[in-house]
Amino acid sequence: MSNGKDWIDFNLVKQSVSMEMLIIHFGLFSIERKEDEVRLRCPFHNGKSNNSMAINLTRNIFYCFGCKARGNVIDFVSKYEDCSLREAALRLDKWFFINSPAAESREVETNSQKVSESIPPPVTPQHLIASIEYQLAQLKKLILSR
Ligand SMILES: [Zn+2]
Repeated sequence: MSNGKDWIDFNLVKQSVSMEMLIIHFGLFSIERKEDEVRLRCPFHNGKSNNSMAINLTRNIFYCFGCKARGNVIDFVSKYEDCSLREAALRLDKWFFINSPAAESREVETNSQKVSESIPPPVTPQHLIASIEYQLAQLKKLILSR
């Protein structure tokens, strides 16, 4: 019995996706970057300020000084896409291939019925670069902390 379709590891998603990867994914360009903080126009409210949202890259969270929206990558997607937290985590899993082996087996199961739906979304160079940069940063942190 497999419940792979419904099960999603929130922690794994949070660890695998950086706020930086999300900004790139949604095409939200940051205007300021200072050490581990990025400032950008908040996508959740119609404020005049174009640096009302602060993203802490180390803690991987966001906070808006205008509308007080805050949270992690899953909260961000849930708010941005107007969907549940679970749905947000599932979308992140799909976009960034977090749980690829499970995704593959899901596709094999459904292949015979609907081939068109089993084609994975394309990986853009931006996704790859963001992912690699994030992994490198994590690695650097690990090495420096020793
Ligand atoms: Zn806001």
